[in-house]
Amino acid sequence: MSGLELVNVTKRYGSVVAVDDAVLNVPAGSFVCLLGPSGCGKTTLMRIVAGLETPSAGDVRFDGAAIGDRPVHKRDFGMVFQSLALFPHLTVGENIAYPLKIRRRGKAEREARVAELLDMVRLPGVADRAVSQLSGGQRQRVAIARALAVSPKLFLLDEPLSALDAKLREAMQVELRQLQQRLGVTTIVVTHDQREAMTMADKIVVMKGGRILQMDRPIDIYRRPVDPFVADFLGQTNLLTASLDGGAVHVAGAPIPGLALPAGRRTAEISLRPEDVSVRPEGEAPIAASVEFIRDMGSAVEVYLDTAAGRIIAQRPAGSGGLAVGDKVSLGLDPETIVVFPDGEHR
Ligand code: ATP
Repeated sequence: MSGLELVNVTKRYGSVVAVDDAVLNVPAGSFVCLLGPSGCGKTTLMRIVAGLETPSAGDVRFDGAAIGDRPVHKRDFGMVFQSLALFPHLTVGENIAYPLKIRRRGKAEREARVAELLDMVRLPGVADRAVSQLSGGQRQRVAIARALAVSPKLFLLDEPLSALDAKLREAMQVELRQLQQRLGVTTIVVTHDQREAMTMADKIVVMKGGRILQMDRPIDIYRRPVDPFVADFLGQTNLLTASLDGGAVHVAGAPIPGLALPAGRRTAEISLRPEDVSVRPEGEAPIAASVEFIRDMGSAVEVYLDTAAGRIIAQRPAGSGGLAVGDKVSLGLDPETIVVFPDGEHR
């Protein structure tokens, strides 16, 4: 296979299993985000791919060849880590040209390549500036340009945007994705920010406790999470219990026609996205609820509802007024939008 493959990779530090039997395929040209909470093993996995750590077990393969024993500098991968490690005493151009210089490329070639790379990251004409004269976002682009200088076979970024403020981070996510698509470079990014992963990735890999829980397209992870942890980590959701009662499946005390439980089960955990909960006048829909809190975000309205199953959050379109705290309402659920979890082994 062309691209990167991890085959049953495990990394132990004493009794800590930082990465637990990871199986991962990153096809050539694709953009994969490793997503998960702090300590889930994202950085360790990335360092193994880069060659900065040796796995305790398992194989790392690239373009079909085992590369577990190949030293970092022979992998030809480009890396950008959270601490950018730009050389402060060198100019922007010297920083970007550094990997070319150690590969003994000539001055004219280096200068042409630096100009080309600066255009690519939308920082034309700053080659002679000192790194200290640049803003955080500009330094980020310089680090990206430097990592791309030798046209890496694999581009690895660990929390590359986490030091930037929210607006700049969102803009850079779009730029990074567009740049990756233009270059067609196989890319792996570590992030703990689900919005960032949704924005950039062809596929998201969700990790927890060293294990890979799910790898899928962003929309599939959002719509068909394999377990409650994944459902809750990707966006907002309502985790509830559905139970079989007198032949009908109930949620929050009301029968939901069309909802089925796994064979042989009397209860199951379910995930219900706020945008899939419809808030109706009292008595019109199965689940009785009262309005507890209203959060008007401008672009959408979140309604916190008190039900027999505790709080359910609904999201309504902007400007959908007409509700007040204390109102009695009813909730309608579309069984098609409800994710029913099989007995999870991950909890
Ligand atoms: P964060 O988002 O906080 O950076 P992460 O998902 O990148 O977290 P890792 O840094 O890969 O997580 O760490 C995974 C686990 O391995 C943690 O429990 C961590 O304490 C442990 N670990 C990582 N590196 C080492 C090491 N060199 N020695 C001992 N334990 C380590």
